[in-house]
Order: sequence, then structure tokens, then C-alpha cells
Amino acid sequence: MTRVVAPSKIVCVGRNYAEHAHELGNPMPREPLIFLKPPSAVIGDGEPIALPPQSQRVEHEGEIAVVIGARLTRVSEPQALNGIAGITCANDVTARDLQKTDGQWTRAKGFDTFCPVGPRVVPINDLGDLTQLEVRCRVNGRLRQQGKATDMAFPIPMVLSYISHIMTLEPGDLVLTGTPAGVGPLVAGDVVEVEISGVGVLRNPVVAG
Ligand code: MG
Repeated sequence: MTRVVAPSKIVCVGRNYAEHAHELGNPMPREPLIFLKPPSAVIGDGEPIALPPQSQRVEHEGEIAVVIGARLTRVSEPQALNGIAGITCANDVTARDLQKTDGQWTRAKGFDTFCPVGPRVVPINDLGDLTQLEVRCRVNGRLRQQGKATDMAFPIPMVLSYISHIMTLEPGDLVLTGTPAGVGPLVAGDVVEVEISGVGVLRNPVVAG
């Protein structure tokens, strides 16, 4: 039940895997499509995701999350790579119905408990080649999503450099790098897991809010 991060902001990439963009009927962006989640949405491993009464369809999005280790302002891709503190698992929980009706994503992505992160932050030196990372998402033990960092349209160093030319990334900030295909609904009573090879399993129960 520990929270391993306390970010000043959470920057997320939308549509970074072609198969996921296509499953929602969206074209691939020509450059990274970024949005923010509020730090108040963060919960740790084991804490419950609360389904808000405003939404009829809340979905999981298992993602590889980067924890920033240095202040990054307008950095190159190699500089960005050196500024990573580590990697952790994240779930970009999304109220899919509100995402569609609102036209922008603040409400759909911003509810309390909509950003589970954990169970630990693993330094990249312990992980080897970041392009070999794999993320899986299971609901009640059944595999729903599986993706490899090599399938990202915009690789991690490129994403960090891109963001750093817009806003300064501070130590402790989180960058969620997008979700692979297979997103689907969560209902009360479910247990959702996000696993990254070499990092561990982030496990959260789902409850009615
Ligand atoms: Mg996402």
C-alpha cells in the first residue's frame, strides 16, 4: 500500500501504439499527443480504484511509466536518457464515455484513484535496454493487454526530449508512455494488474465509488 512516487505532474502520451489507436478508431498522430493527469489521482500498489458515479465505462490502460531523476529543460534524446531515475508500472485509468463526450480529457483521466503506480521504481541500469521492456495488463488473472517498447511509435528518449521542449520535467515527475491494444472495462470486484518485465506487478482492486 505504499506510494513510490510523488510527482509534481504526470505527463501522458496518447496513441503511442498503432494497434491501440486503431482499436479506438483513431489515426496515429504525427508527433506525440500529450496530456496531463493530476498528481491527486496517484495511488499505490494494493489501493483501490474507485469507479466514479459520473461514468458508465471505466477502462484500464496498462503502461510503462518513466520516473524522472533530473531537471530536464529542452534536452536532447541522450540527455533525456541520462535524466531517468527509473521505470515503474502505471495504469492510466480512463472514463472512456466521458473522454468521448467531453472532447478533452481532464475529467475522463483525472478522477481520484485513476493513476495507480508501483510497486517499485527500478533504475534503468538494472533493466538493460529500455526498448526491450514489455508491459502486460491482466484483469482477474486474464491477459487483456500485452505490448513491447519496440512497438511504440515514439520511443522513450524521443518522448522525454519532446516534452522537455514544452515544459520542464522535474525530478519525481512521471511520464506515462502510452498503452498497447486490448483496453477494456473494469467493474466493481475486479482486480487489475499491470506487469513490466524486470519491474514487478502493480495490483489494484476495483470498487464502486
Ligand atoms: Mg494512456
